Amino acid sequence: MKDLISRKGKLFVISGPSGTGKGTVCKRIKQDMHMDLSVSMTTREPRKGEVEGRDYFFVTEDEFLENIEQGNLLEHAEVYNHRYGTPRDAVMKKLAMNHNVLLEIDIQGGLQVKRSMPESVLIFLLPPSLKELRKRLSGRGTDAPEVVEERLSKALNEIKLLGEYDYCVVNDNLDDAVMKTESIIRAEGLRVPDKIMPVVRKYEEEE
Ligand code: ADP
Ligand code: 5GP
Repeated sequence: MKDLISRKGKLFVISGPSGTGKGTVCKRIKQDMHMDLSVSMTTREPRKGEVEGRDYFFVTEDEFLENIEQGNLLEHAEVYNHRYGTPRDAVMKKLAMNHNVLLEIDIQGGLQVKRSMPESVLIFLLPPSLKELRKRLSGRGTDAPEVVEERLSKALNEIKLLGEYDYCVVNDNLDDAVMKTESIIRAEGLRVPDKIMPVVRKYEEEE
């Protein structure tokens, strides 16, 4: 049955220090809620197992700069000496189709999205502690020890920007963090719409 209230697609951003579990949580949300996950563009090299077009669009520095120049990116940032950005068109098309879209991006990018699309919803994923963050970064096995240290040293400064976000979820127990993040997405989908008259009219027609 068609929903009484027509829902527009919403843009959700998940950010948090590297190693907190953003990728893990987003993968679960994608499966559970059939949510569209945006695929970013990056200048970094693919990691083992990463697939072009599924994990990232891997591009050269020149290609990335051209995309910025042509206004193709909704936001972009330099993270750990590599460039990352969100292709604008893919996101806009999905929102126009009333699909929710999830961006897993860094905090600088999240703040750019909030500025250009204030109706977007920003969720900050926090690690239970910096000690646990170190464990997760090392345990992931994708980064050299000096890369782990660099990411850890940035974590506290990132956490200091928490106040700019709309929601925060601590990723201690994974199931719990997924459940809380999904609750935020569901609740945001139930907000009173900007235009209430079409809803009121449907009840008036019944009288
Ligand atoms: P991010 O995308 O934020 O950099 P990942 O999703 O890659 O982080 O997770 C970093 C590591 O932590 C991975 O090895 C992942 O399996 C692990 N991890 C994620 N969430 C949890 C959790 N709640 N408890 C324990 N380990 C976790
Ligand atoms: P990784 O190299 O580990 O895949 O990602 C490093 C960081 O870049 C993570 O914090 C991730 O969220 C962020 N990131 C990934 N894609 C984008 C993007 O499109 N824009 C921004 N601003 N950050 C991104």
